[in-house]
Amino acid sequence: MRCPSCGHPESKVVDSRPSEEYNSIRRRRECLKCGTRFTTYERLGDSPLIVIKADGTSQVFSREKLYRGISIACAKRPNIPNEKKTEIIDSIEAQLRNTGKNEIRSKELGDMVLERLRGLDDVAYIRFASVYKDFQSIEEFEDALKGLE
Ligand SMILES: [Zn+2]
Repeated sequence: MRCPSCGHPESKVVDSRPSEEYNSIRRRRECLKCGTRFTTYERLGDSPLIVIKADGTSQVFSREKLYRGISIACAKRPNIPNEKKTEIIDSIEAQLRNTGKNEIRSKELGDMVLERLRGLDDVAYIRFASVYKDFQSIEEFEDALKGLE
């Protein structure tokens, strides 16, 4: 788990508690090099999936971040209720687990979301498609989507 600020691979856990969502554990970590604190969510019983970003850096696959990204693309689109978003994420995560790989490129992840939005909601599809190809992280992607509104 690399520090999001300096990329240092070692951190210590300063707090752990169960997250209500998704059967996971929320951990607060502190980078051993620069002291930055960050939060990770680890699903029980699963090894973490790593997302490789376009710039070569990586981060742990996060259902919460993906959910947020999809929610923004789906803002004010009644065709996609919350359960549907969770279903999309479940299906993506299951597909990733089934490949047996523990790494995925952010572009592939974006493609997987698009496959599922296609035919479901054109506006959400276009919102997602118009930015995902350039995004380095879900955060940047979120900012880009906010800019579209
Ligand atoms: Zn650091």
